[in-house]
Amino acid sequence: MLVLETKDLSFSYGETPVLTNISFQLRQGSFAALIGPNGAGKSTLLKLLLGELLPTSGTIQVLGKDARSFRGWRRIGYVPQDGLARHADFPASAREIVQANLCAEIGLCRFPKQKHREQVQRALGLVGMEKYGKRLIGALSGGQRQRVLLARALVSSPDVMILDEPTSGMDQESAEDFYKLLSRLNMNRGLTILMVSHDVERICDHVSQVYCLEHNTMAGLTPEQVLQGTREHRHIPKEERNCICGYF
Ligand code: ADP
Repeated sequence: MLVLETKDLSFSYGETPVLTNISFQLRQGSFAALIGPNGAGKSTLLKLLLGELLPTSGTIQVLGKDARSFRGWRRIGYVPQDGLARHADFPASAREIVQANLCAEIGLCRFPKQKHREQVQRALGLVGMEKYGKRLIGALSGGQRQRVLLARALVSSPDVMILDEPTSGMDQESAEDFYKLLSRLNMNRGLTILMVSHDVERICDHVSQVYCLEHNTMAGLTPEQVLQGTREHRHIPKEERNCICGYF
């Protein structure tokens, strides 16, 4: 089953076209990376898939429904890039950040019930942060804060998780741990994942599919094809390469 699909998708900011006739499919159960140089339109594509922007032309299907009439947005989890870094001074605990994503179920100005507290604890457990529930977000590392954001997105049991450069600013070890965590969620819980990343070579050890958006073309590649492409272009300085993954 396809969980996300675009057909001949085009989008412009005002008069400036960013995406033209992009077709792409994400199958249920995949762990896919979306790569491409800065400015290629990756974040714009994510915003379109999340229903935050409307296409100029073409269609977007989300879990089999046209995005314009889709109402189940809670089934799509989203982890923004460096999401809590700018709010690190905000006096909220990890538990409160996760719980905030249940506010529709808890109700405004109501206290969470035992079942909500258990849901929050389970989501923190899924990302290995069960012992940090009371910790203020300002006292967590960048990697731990991203895990909290992942727990926040997981607490509503989504079918698909979309992440925008979730490891930017993390050291290599934390980034690797984060990819392993995503792999486990994909393999053990069947979570479908689409992740924008610049970590082209490292993510190839974890993902099942790579989409490369560049020169307004979307190529679906296997991780092996990407690794081969980057190996063949290793002798060319990055800024002089024709493309990021060596394929077009
Ligand atoms: P990427 O995520 O691949 O770096 P983006 O989707 O952020 O690319 O941006 C694609 C292009 O759209 C860039 O040229 C960027 O400057 C432009 N852009 C992004 N957001 C806006 C906006 N809100 N208004 C106008 N142009 C934008």
